[in-house]
Amino acid sequence: MPRSSQVFQFNSHDLPRRAGEMKEYAFDITVPDRVGIDVIAVLPGEDIHVDLRLESVTEGVLVSAQIGAIADGECIRCLDPLEFDINRSIQELYRYEPEKAHTKAQRKRAREEEDDLDEDEDLMMDGDFINLEIPIRDAVILALPINPLCDLECQGLCSGCGQKWAQLPEDHAHDLIDPRWAGLGPLAGQ
Ligand SMILES: [Zn+2]
Ligand SMILES: [Zn+2]
Repeated sequence: MPRSSQVFQFNSHDLPRRAGEMKEYAFDITVPDRVGIDVIAVLPGEDIHVDLRLESVTEGVLVSAQIGAIADGECIRCLDPLEFDINRSIQELYRYEPEKAHTKAQRKRAREEEDDLDEDEDLMMDGDFINLEIPIRDAVILALPINPLCDLECQGLCSGCGQKWAQLPEDHAHDLIDPRWAGLGPLAGQ
């Protein structure tokens, strides 16, 4: 399996670096590791479909993408496996690296913007390469339910026996000894 970030690299070499130029692409990224959260994620070996549009702008490349994938997880109440459809759009500006900007105007602009560059928010081109990992991971995580349910009405499991309520008779019950008193049981007869 390739390193995770490598599969998210997109080579934009055939996009002319003139503001206003635009290209569209469609492809699948097979993810080498989980993309998602603990309870639900796109699993390793699964595909994330990407409809990508690249537009040359003065300061870099504007990336717009529609991503689609299926995440696998389990219902937090009954633990049944479930699938979740992800459909989400992304839009990010990838700036030219200041020293690799192609025209004088781009270099000037890049230098000016370097000063108030916010490392956390700005995405940079790496030569012709656009690394889509961060926006795709973020978009998938934002799309996923934090508490996935097989059904909004899911009744979950009986705490006494762990069976699904949906499969138990309505009058199902346990004669439970209150756990606070259970420890005193052996003493009760003395
Ligand atoms: Zn459930
Ligand atoms: Zn039970």
